[in-house]
Amino acid sequence: MSFASLGLSEPLLKAVAEQNYDTPTPIQSQAIPAVLDGKDVMAAAQTGTGKTAGFVLPLLQKLAAGDRAKPNHIRTLILTPTRELAAQVEESVVIYGKHLSLSSAVVFGGVKINPQMMKLRKGVDVLVATPGRLLDLFGQNAVKFDDIEVLVLDEADRMLDMGFIHDIKKILGYLPKQRQNLMFSATFSADIRKLAKGLVHDPEEISVSPRNTTVETVDHWIHPVDKKQKAQLLIHLIEEGGWHQALIFSKTKHGANKLATQLEKAGIHAAAIHGNKSQGARTRALAGFKDGSVRILVATDIAARGLDIDPVSYTHLRAHE
Ligand code: AMP
Repeated sequence: MSFASLGLSEPLLKAVAEQNYDTPTPIQSQAIPAVLDGKDVMAAAQTGTGKTAGFVLPLLQKLAAGDRAKPNHIRTLILTPTRELAAQVEESVVIYGKHLSLSSAVVFGGVKINPQMMKLRKGVDVLVATPGRLLDLFGQNAVKFDDIEVLVLDEADRMLDMGFIHDIKKILGYLPKQRQNLMFSATFSADIRKLAKGLVHDPEEISVSPRNTTVETVDHWIHPVDKKQKAQLLIHLIEEGGWHQALIFSKTKHGANKLATQLEKAGIHAAAIHGNKSQGARTRALAGFKDGSVRILVATDIAARGLDIDPVSYTHLRAHE
């Protein structure tokens, strides 16, 4: 199976080749033809399956064939639960759309709204957004939904977990009825199915990973330890094990800060990432982790899913409290 056999156009095949992708992943080989065909899609796929390219590539192909967005209008809306995921998805739009003349933008909360309004003024073909900020922009007439052709809900389960259901319902109420809908979720719980019912019509159902499983490359183990000694044990594990990089989850924001400070004191370069940090600090911490300058990233669950970070040697799930 090749990307060309899925019906993708030259500019997209070129972008895919530049990313050194040889063969489509299973979600891509199923989703790409379905999306190109104009079908609604409901896909159970986790991060790491290549789902982003699975919807972005065919979307771009369809958008390239139509008229560009009018001022303040958007043609595709991709909703994501977190700012980080929104930024990551928009990066993919830019990468895969490199040889097409489509415009894209990303909007999320925690940063100034004015530059986002300016970007929307000309109109964008693909808008990636988190729900709250999108509603703010809509309320201020900075974005109009009448021309939306495609809606993508990425990580729908996570959006529900984060309490976005009301925002999502509000947004759905503002969208034109005639549109293509794509819904991606790691799991399909009863709540997700309920949401899907009012959203996707006669969808192509795609499932590429069994429910609630962890990728095979992950080993789990538990260290029973007294709460007071958790940080010391962790420092010992990092040093003895020569861990190159690790992503550590902390239950609380305060706990994440505290642990990052303790690691720094032990001479281990660490940064904390959570909802109380400014967007600038979050972006810097993640960029530092990705380029290797930050050895340990301590995160609350904002970073727990959906982020695609290349080889992390250890993901230390929070030790029990
Ligand atoms: P995603 O599940 O969309 O977050 O993608 C996970 C990772 O897989 C990203 O780093 C992509 O660049 C990469 N990827 C996507 N499609 C392919 C492919 N067909 N071959 C190799 N890598 C891919």
